[in-house]
Amino acid sequence: MSSIDKHGPFAEETRLIHAGRAPALFGGAVNIPPFRASTVLFQTLADLDAHDPALRMVRYGRTGNPSSHAFEAAITELEEGHDAVSFASGLQAITSSLLAFTRQGDHVLIADTAYAPTRGFANGILSRSGITVEYFDPGIGAGITALLRPTTRVVFLESPGSLTFEVQDVPAICAAVTAANPDIVLMIDNTWAAGLLFKPLKHGVHVSIQSATKYVGGHSDASLGVAVCMRQDHWLRLKKAAIELGACASADDLFLGLRGLRSLQVRLRRHHESGIKVARWLEARPEVTRVRHPALPDCPGHALWVRDFTGACGLFAFEIAPVPRPALAAMVDGMHHFGMGYSWGGFESLILPSNPAAIRTATPWAGGELIRLHIGLEDADDLIADLDAGFARLNAALEAK
Ligand SMILES: *Cc1c(COP(=O)(O)O)cnc(C)c1O
Repeated sequence: MSSIDKHGPFAEETRLIHAGRAPALFGGAVNIPPFRASTVLFQTLADLDAHDPALRMVRYGRTGNPSSHAFEAAITELEEGHDAVSFASGLQAITSSLLAFTRQGDHVLIADTAYAPTRGFANGILSRSGITVEYFDPGIGAGITALLRPTTRVVFLESPGSLTFEVQDVPAICAAVTAANPDIVLMIDNTWAAGLLFKPLKHGVHVSIQSATKYVGGHSDASLGVAVCMRQDHWLRLKKAAIELGACASADDLFLGLRGLRSLQVRLRRHHESGIKVARWLEARPEVTRVRHPALPDCPGHALWVRDFTGACGLFAFEIAPVPRPALAAMVDGMHHFGMGYSWGGFESLILPSNPAAIRTATPWAGGELIRLHIGLEDADDLIADLDAGFARLNAALEAK
């Protein structure tokens, strides 16, 4: 089935406006109202007895309802996959996917640049369940075959890494792994691309996961995750796992996810443009030793980004030489437009000093002080002025020593 058959001949911008909507079923309302129901009543015993091998009936709020079905249909359209399962958070989508496809004795390979809480789960519950977890260099490419074992069940990618932004050769990794063992399930955390800027399911990935808390929601007020599968058997397995785990998303957050999706394209275009403008300005700063933005040549895997992605979001990082903590505080405590906080993908800009050395294991961190930025929808020149003033405070603090 070609993606054009399933997803229609229209441009992606057009398809995302219609995806998951059904005004005729909801009194003509443009948006599907949040389906707030736990109990679902059956009219007859025959209805109660009806089996649902496709697991798509509305039988109880937690196991699937019009809000979750609409959101899953829309994200499936976005990722050009077969079907999706929604979750209460991106992390729940990741942990449920890893649990769904592994059992005691299995071996799982995870990119060294994976989101830190993904590693937390892998090193915690997954390892305690008798699954061997191994991290690999994100630049490994087809060389991943050297790490495969007879027990390898899952290879988990994240490209670019959401802290240090190495872009992986996803097509090469997928081709090599599948040629070696077609039963291995390839998963990716596709949050940076928001399901839009990169289409992993076209490159051999089986399960594309994203935190819809980030760009899909887009307004820093929802918690939502989703995993899109390329194969029906994978979808069924993941859906069964979600039911066993009691994993589900709230109707209100699903509503916000669907609403955010409608403006995803235009927001991302703006994040892309402003992000690159700020990144280029940072590149020319004497304080900055390296800018880690996939669209800039200095970023590991930049050529892969050019080849595989259609754009960039607003999240990237830069490095400065190590500085005393109080000098760093002088810079980041006084920001006017940049808030200091985790998460990203909302309309507002964020700044976050981070230490990758504490997280990775396969590829030791050799960089300097890392500062991650999320470039929001503000005017880019206002953001540059804010950073400029921040560097002035940093330099004054260093000179005052
Ligand atoms: C935030 C994030 C997640 C987890 O998403 P939540 O919705 O906060 O659980 C997963 N992966 C990446 C890359 C993220 O940035």
